[in-house]
Amino acid sequence: SELSTTIMERIRDVPDYPQPGVLFKDITPLLGDPVAFAAVVDELAGLHDVDKIVGIEARGFILGAPVAYRTGAGFVPVRKKGKLPAPTLAESYELEYGTATVEVHHDAFTPGDRVLIVDDVLATGGTAAATVELVRRAGGEVVCFAVLMELAFLKGRERLTGVEIRSLVIV
Ligand code: 5GP
Repeated sequence: SELSTTIMERIRDVPDYPQPGVLFKDITPLLGDPVAFAAVVDELAGLHDVDKIVGIEARGFILGAPVAYRTGAGFVPVRKKGKLPAPTLAESYELEYGTATVEVHHDAFTPGDRVLIVDDVLATGGTAAATVELVRRAGGEVVCFAVLMELAFLKGRERLTGVEIRSLVIV
């Protein structure tokens, strides 16, 4: 589609970031283009009627907050361990080396809240799967997980069975 072309043309490949051998997808050229950024926000805002947008730290905040504003939903941050001030629920997941933990405030959702989770990139799916589990444990109903770009070769989708996944670009 026209939107996926617009997105692809504004995502920059950065070799060897954050470590050697990784080709990082940098979304800052897209964010810096006001027409493209607005088109992405409008597309994400049109996916589902939800009560809460969850944004995953940190680029999920940049995308999720304007989607919340646009749709009239609330915004809920999912953050790395230790960053949220009030009592949290936590979910850990495996990385290539070691583990990572994401957290959400225990009272972020009203039971049954319909939730759209937003992030920039779906890679191995570890972050997404942990966030889905976290939202469910906190009382939210995950309606959809949406990203700008899915790296299909990393098979993240296989870790998200039973969740609708919307990727604006699949590479
Ligand atoms: P995963 O847990 O799926 O392996 O990694 C996804 C998470 O790491 C997302 O929160 C995403 O922001 C970040 N991430 C992993 N690879 C990339 C990348 O190439 N580009 C960007 N922008 N984020 C990435």
